[in-house]
Amino acid sequence: MNCERIVDLLVDYFDGELEEQTAHRLEGHLQDCPGCVKFIETYRQTGSICREALRVEMPAPVKSTLFQFLRTQLQSPTS
Ligand SMILES: [Zn+2]
Repeated sequence: MNCERIVDLLVDYFDGELEEQTAHRLEGHLQDCPGCVKFIETYRQTGSICREALRVEMPAPVKSTLFQFLRTQLQSPTS
């Protein structure tokens, strides 16, 4: 499971609609990936706005670009 897959699964994860096995794999990834943990913290804080944005079907390149942007922002030491 890679980081972009996590983004795909987040909406279902927070809605409790993910299969148990998939949810466990997602949580397993989070143990090893501080970047995704930060992403999820931000996702939780932004709440419905970010949720709606992710719920919309995006072409894969757009989603990838958005995710890379968010990761870059999250990893900046200062803002
Ligand atoms: Zn990750």
